[in-house]
Amino acid sequence: MRLIVTEKDSAARKIADILGGKVTVKEHGRGRQKVRSYHFGYKDDDAVAIGLRGHVMETVFPNTYRRWSLKYLGDMIERPDLAWVVDGGAAGTLAALRSVAKGATEVVIATDYDREGELIGHEALEILRGDALKRHPHDKPEKKKAGAAGRGKAAAAPPAEPPADNGDPRVKAMLPAAAVDRHIRVRYSALTREEVEAAFAKPSTVDFNLAEAAHSRQDIDLIWGAVLTRFMSLASYRYGSDYLSVGRVQSPTLRLVVDRELERRAFVPIPYWEIKATLTRGDDTVEVAHTKGRFDSLEAMETALARAQADTAEVTAYKAEPRKVAPPAPFNTTALMSAASGGGASPARAMRAAESLYLDGLISYPRTDNTVYPPSLDLRGSLEALAGWQPVATTAARLAKQGKYTPTRGKKRTTDHPPIYPVGVPKRQLSGDQAKVYDLVVRRFLATLLPAAVIEGQRVDVRIGHEPFLARGSRVASPGFLEVYEKYAAKRDRPLPALQPGDVLQVRDLRSESKETQPPSRYGQGALIEKMEELSLGTKATRADIIQHLYDRNYVRDNPVEPTELGVALITAFDAAMKKAPVDISSWQMTAKLDDQMTRISEGELRRDQVVAESQDMLEQAWKLLDGHVADIRERIKSGVREDLTLGECKNCGGQLRVLRGKTGKRFAACVGKEGEEPQPAAEGERPRRGCGQTFPLPQRGTITPTGKTCGECGWPEIKVVGAGGRGRPWVLCVDIDCPSKEKYRSRAKKNA
Ligand SMILES: [Zn+2]
Ligand SMILES: [Zn+2]
Repeated sequence: MRLIVTEKDSAARKIADILGGKVTVKEHGRGRQKVRSYHFGYKDDDAVAIGLRGHVMETVFPNTYRRWSLKYLGDMIERPDLAWVVDGGAAGTLAALRSVAKGATEVVIATDYDREGELIGHEALEILRGDALKRHPHDKPEKKKAGAAGRGKAAAAPPAEPPADNGDPRVKAMLPAAAVDRHIRVRYSALTREEVEAAFAKPSTVDFNLAEAAHSRQDIDLIWGAVLTRFMSLASYRYGSDYLSVGRVQSPTLRLVVDRELERRAFVPIPYWEIKATLTRGDDTVEVAHTKGRFDSLEAMETALARAQADTAEVTAYKAEPRKVAPPAPFNTTALMSAASGGGASPARAMRAAESLYLDGLISYPRTDNTVYPPSLDLRGSLEALAGWQPVATTAARLAKQGKYTPTRGKKRTTDHPPIYPVGVPKRQLSGDQAKVYDLVVRRFLATLLPAAVIEGQRVDVRIGHEPFLARGSRVASPGFLEVYEKYAAKRDRPLPALQPGDVLQVRDLRSESKETQPPSRYGQGALIEKMEELSLGTKATRADIIQHLYDRNYVRDNPVEPTELGVALITAFDAAMKKAPVDISSWQMTAKLDDQMTRISEGELRRDQVVAESQDMLEQAWKLLDGHVADIRERIKSGVREDLTLGECKNCGGQLRVLRGKTGKRFAACVGKEGEEPQPAAEGERPRRGCGQTFPLPQRGTITPTGKTCGECGWPEIKVVGAGGRGRPWVLCVDIDCPSKEKYRSRAKKNA
């Protein structure tokens, strides 16, 4: 019997459907631990496919490091004493694996085709062979506890019972070692019949070097994350769910956002002026601007404005020049997430949608750096399939009949996966993010096979009085790839009316506009992902989650991404401590170096223990510097948090209106008095308090931030509420529940009720 192990359940089901004629589904376990296996006949033998739930092993510290205390940190860095053990949450999956593995003569590893997939395959082999550890070898066997100890909790395990497993820390073997060692590895980039059958036709073995690279990342991330998170949390007295998370990739990403914000704060705007005019002729209107563009001095602008006083404008020149706009390159992960975020989906959501489209056999594997289609790719096959998808049917059918293709090429060429392209057509209507991402992938794919667009760039020069003005326009002369991709491309069809030298237009409105230079803009989520790729921060598999984590930890808010004061404090506290550091833990250079070393592990040039040891040295240097700045870090974090929670001034007493949490965890706004105000003596049986006692209820969901403005109706501060992860439209409202500005909402709500 063949045992086929995939990374997820849906991939197991898909492979069984493709390889087997008739598939029998069996269920193992119950509830959230329920696992399915898919049994079928394949090549005169029985086969079973089963999906894991991603990683089934994890790197852990021994239990002695569970307690959060500053005094253990030195030990954790010097002797992290890591062990690779079976993930406690995977018990149900492993029980199912044990039951279906019985009697297997051949093991097929069919996990995702990338670094993490290789490691998951390695994990499965360790477990099947009985080499995997159940627990850290230094830990005593624990009695089963309800619910695993959460990260960040100082869960002190009760003294353990005498070992019930005869002290053997390893899982029981599921198969004879010989059967496991004979394993085969299949690699596919899309869950389609062609790809899967081709993969099974030319099997290979697990690439253990590649798995080691992923494993070293796990080790390093665990040590760095645990040490720095504990250090910052303990230094700033933040415990429990308020802990301050610090990560090897996460912190340099936050730095990008914070650095940009600090640039914006330091920016001094410079005033300038522009002169514009609206010209008409019959039904045609042209908006022109002074040829000089910006006037830096008010006098120069006023002089020019006086010289331009006239009722008519005369066309002095008209030019139209065609230029080619090349179609975009094929999608890799970063480009897809970036394009999707232009359409409003956060990178994390776009990635989830892309993964489910992949598992449904509609697009190829969405984690790829490649932007060049391999020559073996069946472009025509995809086109023929897309001819059955109504929104692009005409274009796809026409292209499918074409003799040969010259697709666009991007700058990155890798050989593991092709760029992301459609491999199937949905059988039923897609909805939500899935529909959006599928539409985007399909149109992008077609665009890469279509010719360049020809855009006619137009420029008209006119004279008003004694001054020169101009206007620019553009016209799509030949749509090329815009035939399918216009909705995702920059707007290009803004033609000028037909004009020629000597034409005279009426001046309807001649005006000056006073403006200021603008600070550099904040990163949108898509631009941030692109910047991360440029700096090698994270991988195609982790970038979206890292950004999401910054939102979840309340280090950033909104989209474009704006740091909270807590986020700013975290980075500036690092900076203050690291001034003379040989390594800066929040800089991207160091992270990029580690990523490079992981690549060298995968190529067999370095070993995991060498790379982990080197990163321990770096961490030790960093920690020593940080340790000399505990008081400063504490003060910065505290004042950052205070600023994030201060909504504005109390209208009654001039104190600060701040977000507080009640005993039940509900948040509300309360006046906490002025900075440094002494608490008032309390009445019998009450706690002394500061401020005037004013409170307001607050929305319980989303991030609340001050707007810095007060309500025009009542004078209380206005606040902004943004959905989790910067999703949805921000909602600005007055903090006063009885404000007259809310009357209209209330009456509308009543009507609907
Ligand atoms: Zn007050
Ligand atoms: Zn109000």
